[in-house]
Amino acid sequence: MRNPIYLFIAIFTLCFLNVGVSADVPMKNVKMKLHEFDGVQYISGLEFADTQNIRTIFYEDKEKLEFRFPDSKVTISPHSSYIKVDDKIFHMYLPVIYDGTDFFIPAEPFMNILNNTSLPNAAIDSSEEYVVSTAPLYNVNNVKVVNKVNGTIIKIQTEKQFSQSVISASITRGGWLNLTVAGALIDSANIVNSPVEYPVMRVRAIQSQESAQISFMLKAKVDDYEINTTQNEILITLRVATAENADRIKEMRSKWLLDTIVIDAGHGGKDPGAVGKGGLLEKTITLDVAKKLGRMIEREMGVNVIYTREEDVFIPLWKRTKVANDSGGKVFISIHVNSSPSSRSAKGFETYLLRPGKTKDAIDVAARENGVIQLEEKNHEYKESSNENLILATMAQSSFMKESEFLAAEVQKQLDRVLSTPNRGVKQAGFHVLVGASMPNVLIELGFISNRDEAKLLGRSSYRRKIARSIFDALVNFKDKYETPLIVD
Ligand SMILES: [Zn+2]
Repeated sequence: MRNPIYLFIAIFTLCFLNVGVSADVPMKNVKMKLHEFDGVQYISGLEFADTQNIRTIFYEDKEKLEFRFPDSKVTISPHSSYIKVDDKIFHMYLPVIYDGTDFFIPAEPFMNILNNTSLPNAAIDSSEEYVVSTAPLYNVNNVKVVNKVNGTIIKIQTEKQFSQSVISASITRGGWLNLTVAGALIDSANIVNSPVEYPVMRVRAIQSQESAQISFMLKAKVDDYEINTTQNEILITLRVATAENADRIKEMRSKWLLDTIVIDAGHGGKDPGAVGKGGLLEKTITLDVAKKLGRMIEREMGVNVIYTREEDVFIPLWKRTKVANDSGGKVFISIHVNSSPSSRSAKGFETYLLRPGKTKDAIDVAARENGVIQLEEKNHEYKESSNENLILATMAQSSFMKESEFLAAEVQKQLDRVLSTPNRGVKQAGFHVLVGASMPNVLIELGFISNRDEAKLLGRSSYRRKIARSIFDALVNFKDKYETPLIVD
């Protein structure tokens, strides 16, 4: 502590906070580096704006830099010693230095002005290396709109993770999406002035005692939205029915013919999938059922079949949907066998739709089936498979969701007719193998290899043929229902 007097001044000053924001907002201490030129101390204009979390506007023609506080405007000019705070002009005795990128403001006179207006007070700290000041402690800072091919994400930057339970949202008839966040302290000025793009036309922000509301005026009709949070963001994912999207789906549907079915035999090669008693492997069962089903489809339906694998080879998950899309597949069926080592009595068959998992069981199954990613050499392919992308992927598929739901229900119905094991129903979970399939798709778990009785059945070729026949029957009914003429709603 070389200069106790400065420290005293700093503490003294900060105790008498006098800031241009609502008195209810808690403040945090901030500091800016002091720069010295020719024995005079300066602070960087950009750092000042940054620590205050405010916007700056540079008017090139007028050579003026404006600091935008929530209810004040401060203007400086390069090489000029005049500074304007709202309509008042102050003289700093020393000019602002402009180096082409940053503006250096003489610290001493600038602090004087700050301390004599409604702006945040400032003082030089004891080390004489910094200017200390205060800035509002907001936990919700700004808004960004990110458009992706299949939807829009509104990203709200936050200082902490807000639990989903403190957030509520609704869309009004007038097209406002209202988001209420309990415990939020919003930087209204920043939020309202955040540059937005279609489909968000305007942003409004209202701070109240216990919560804050951020509202987005939406240009497009939103079909569906979902809210998620991360450590520093609140994400609102919107699926927007844009005209072009609707046209594309319409065109695709009018041409819809079930002429290619993609069958995906789960696992393979170095990835055995679930392992049962006596060395029975999931990958062997899935491949056999896939081939039996494929042959029935080709022979009896006259429909082209594409296999993601026809041998005992390892195929990464991402490649499986790529094969499906590249081949112009109209339906994607992924075949798997379940396992529950912790509960050997678990048995039965279930069919999954791609949606973020809702129940613990479903999440466990997805985690096991997605676990194969670790065996893939280039697992960076999945960096994009974050929660937000999964939600978009799911939403992209909602154009096929009706069809996928019908197929899943049909598969369960047909299996139920011939199998004596329990019908566990249609479920939903986030399977990577289904992400990106642009066609109706389902994932079938034929039975539990961990259950002694069911493993015995799954080991029999006749039982697997029965299963293949049931899936085939489901596909026949699916073809009947969805093949032309399709009604577009
Ligand atoms: Zn599997």
